[in-house]
Amino acid sequence: MFKIFIDFDGTITRQDVGDALFEAFGGVQCRDIIQLYRDGAISAVECFQRECDACGVVERDVLDAFLNQQEIDQSFVDFVSFCHRQNLEFTIVSDGMDYYIKQILDKHGIVDTQFYANTLELLPVNGSSKVRLKPSFPYRDEICDRCACCKRNIMLTLSGDDDIIVFIGEGYSDRCPAHYADIVFAKDDLLKFCQKENISYYKYQTFSDVVQRFEKVLSMRRPDGTIPGVAKRRRAELARREVFLGG
Ligand SMILES: [Mg+2]
Repeated sequence: MFKIFIDFDGTITRQDVGDALFEAFGGVQCRDIIQLYRDGAISAVECFQRECDACGVVERDVLDAFLNQQEIDQSFVDFVSFCHRQNLEFTIVSDGMDYYIKQILDKHGIVDTQFYANTLELLPVNGSSKVRLKPSFPYRDEICDRCACCKRNIMLTLSGDDDIIVFIGEGYSDRCPAHYADIVFAKDDLLKFCQKENISYYKYQTFSDVVQRFEKVLSMRRPDGTIPGVAKRRRAELARREVFLGG
């Protein structure tokens, strides 16, 4: 019944790993590139391509060591076990890069988790331990260029008419999918956005807040599987219909 979609950077991890990575390896140049993106002068895809170029040649071990230091919200591990126990399906949707998502999840023993993100290849330079970063974008939308990985399209593709779509996020690339979700868990930038756009949301700080909320909701489940008060959000439903009609 519930289909849960979760942002990665800043939601599962404590900081935005992608931003931190490009700042650490691409330096000040990346800050200028991000500003161009924020100003709407370049697309998300171009932003990533330029950021990867700005990183130049990177020592692979140094990159991996940097990723190894990245912290996650520790209660996310409990959330994963909770979902397994309760048979709740969740998917990570990220406008970040698969390379570091996989590494960080593996490090915390979170395996067999479905995630969708941009692709980052590490191309060896002359057979050495040095690499160049090559991004590609399997989930870009044909029309909208604000994100490189379209969370909305993934969410709508993976959920059916009977599903209640839950979205958990915090940042800029979570604004669009929040419009299409029935239940939104929001913090930071996304929380302000939901307030501004009149999208109802649950405030959370960590995944233990999310677990608590789900425990409460699931405890009210009736024998026929329905839960009082849990329904599709009308505006989200209309927004989804518009996408399917090509609006
Ligand atoms: Mg994020």
